Amino acid sequence: MLLVAAALGLAFSQTVLAAAPAASLAGNPLATASTLPFHYPAFDKIKDEHFIPAFNAGMRIQLKEVSAIANNKAAPSFDNTIVAMEKSGELLTRVQTIFGNLQGANTNDKLDAIDSEMSPKLAAHADAIYLNPKLWARVKALYEKRDALKLDAESKHLLERYHTDFVRAGANLSAADKDKLKAINANIAKLQTLFTQNVLKETNASGLVVDTREELAGMSAAAIDAAATAAKAKGLDGKFFVAVVNTSGQPPLAELTNRTTREKLMALSLARGSHGGEFDNREVVLKIAKARAEKATLLGYANFAAYSLEDQTAHDTASVNKLLGELAKPAVNNAKKEAADLQAVVDAEKGGFKIDASDWAYYTDKVRAQRFAFDENQLKPYFELDNVLINGVFFAANKEYGLTFKERKDLPVYNPDVRVFDVFDADGSQLAIFIADMYARPNKQGGAWMNEYISQSSLLGTHSVVANHLNIPKPPAGEPTLLTYDEVKTAFHEFGHALHGMFSNVKYPRFSGTSVPRDFVEYPSQVNEMWAVWPEVLANYAKHYKTGAPMPKELLDKVIASKKFNQGFLTTEYLSASLLDQRWHQLTPAQIPTDVLAFEAQSLKDMGVDFAPVPPRYRTTYFSHSFSGGYSAGYYAYLWSEKLDADTVEWFKENGGLLRKNGDWFRAKLLSRGGTDDAMNLFRNFRGRDPVIEPLLERRGLTGK
Ligand SMILES: [Zn+2]
Repeated sequence: MLLVAAALGLAFSQTVLAAAPAASLAGNPLATASTLPFHYPAFDKIKDEHFIPAFNAGMRIQLKEVSAIANNKAAPSFDNTIVAMEKSGELLTRVQTIFGNLQGANTNDKLDAIDSEMSPKLAAHADAIYLNPKLWARVKALYEKRDALKLDAESKHLLERYHTDFVRAGANLSAADKDKLKAINANIAKLQTLFTQNVLKETNASGLVVDTREELAGMSAAAIDAAATAAKAKGLDGKFFVAVVNTSGQPPLAELTNRTTREKLMALSLARGSHGGEFDNREVVLKIAKARAEKATLLGYANFAAYSLEDQTAHDTASVNKLLGELAKPAVNNAKKEAADLQAVVDAEKGGFKIDASDWAYYTDKVRAQRFAFDENQLKPYFELDNVLINGVFFAANKEYGLTFKERKDLPVYNPDVRVFDVFDADGSQLAIFIADMYARPNKQGGAWMNEYISQSSLLGTHSVVANHLNIPKPPAGEPTLLTYDEVKTAFHEFGHALHGMFSNVKYPRFSGTSVPRDFVEYPSQVNEMWAVWPEVLANYAKHYKTGAPMPKELLDKVIASKKFNQGFLTTEYLSASLLDQRWHQLTPAQIPTDVLAFEAQSLKDMGVDFAPVPPRYRTTYFSHSFSGGYSAGYYAYLWSEKLDADTVEWFKENGGLLRKNGDWFRAKLLSRGGTDDAMNLFRNFRGRDPVIEPLLERRGLTGK
């Protein structure tokens, strides 16, 4: 997953040539660019109380800058309008970026309250810029004579991009409709913040409590001890507390031998956000869906998905519905075949029950063990965190792109587990700073994501400071951190986003790094996953943490063979969530239902993915991708990107794999180009043709063979 930290479409600049900070910011470390290398944030000096004054000053200063641009007596020119906009908002960009990142990775009640307070204000601030008629008149005048301006390709694309951003933000609306839109935007911002906070609080509140060790049989002794400690911390002495993560499936389901315990855990996971109580998200969902539909109507679109997709490489709802619809049937058929395999094990054991969602992971592991004589836990000693990161992820980046890494301990961090690395290019010059925040914490959003603290731009003279966030459970003191195969893949995935940020070589901040359509942004990160199992890379990092022995070849072969295993389940749970996301956002305001769960059930049924043993990866009320803003009407993007990814993996294989010449080509044609050109043009420049779907179908076992 990628988290887009900036809530606004407009890229606010990071220039160090700042306007003098307001007097109210005396002593505020956010007031000026950090003097640390690459303007790395001074985390040790930034306190919660610094944010609100910096936000307010940041918005005030940018409005002044924008007003000066809009009211400039000189005729509009590319420099005095578009470039000036790119340079505006230096303080706001800084505070918004740092705040957004810390609130995702290391929040507290104060930061949550600030988020609630600032979200509608920031939405109103963006509107004050995009809906400024004088500014729009200048952008439009320039756009209309763009061919006569003799701009270089990146600058011309920037002008077109600004024009599109303004139109999509409502610049063409009447004054009365602009006011309506402003009210809707502020409301959406407020509701999305509430949704996000409810999800995190509900997740933290939703663990499974049991009375006896026996009920947790199957889990490791260490995990059961941790559950006892967690219960004690909650004042439940003598009981056991198993925490949940923010997906429908829960990791302990693969281990728990007691079916009743599994059922309880699954049931409470699926009920999150929809069983009443303080953090129930049903009303919030309905309000968000309605407000988004109203926004789309006002802007002249059939529904919010149509509005959202127009600006993506997918372009319209028809093409997304087509892709998801075509894959749904083969995916569910595969899942049903897998269910039959699982049922056969239950029946052979005389279990006497029909397989359901809570049984899936447990029996999948059994079938996997039978078929591949392979248990995920056998792998873990070979996936020690430092080995994975340094000898795996970094090693692959060295072979592919010539990068080298050096850890540094002198820069401040917001949590002692966070690590910082200087990243050097092949010629020895420093390219970026990379922050690795790998461990789970209760105050960290679930899942994994990349974000940037500083974005590269030659206009502003900035280089990337990027961070990767994972949620790996932290072992007890003195124990090694051993990853699952999925966590290893996630580490490579997020680093693919990091490369996209670090390799950025663009002029304008609006185009930096990962500033590409959402259904394109997952593509480079997914490509980077290929190196996790590339033999030369695996041989370098997958070593036993105690003995240093390489992962045995037969185990490795089994890992690779088992990669296609359980694809029916994985594709179905993902497609169900993607289809739900589309359903909710393909409604007109009048079509918004009143019963969230009934609408969800009917939608899954209509789309042929209502196969109870495989629930959607996220149900509506904890579907942050869809309702927090980042991937609304856009969860399909992972699969869309995977088409490009699978085709690109074929290209690497055709061209000899892990070679500098391949990495350098990918970097030159795609990773360094950010959003400077149409995304599909970038792909074609790299691949030499349009993408084809066959490699994706093959990978997911959807070829019907
Ligand atoms: Zn991602």
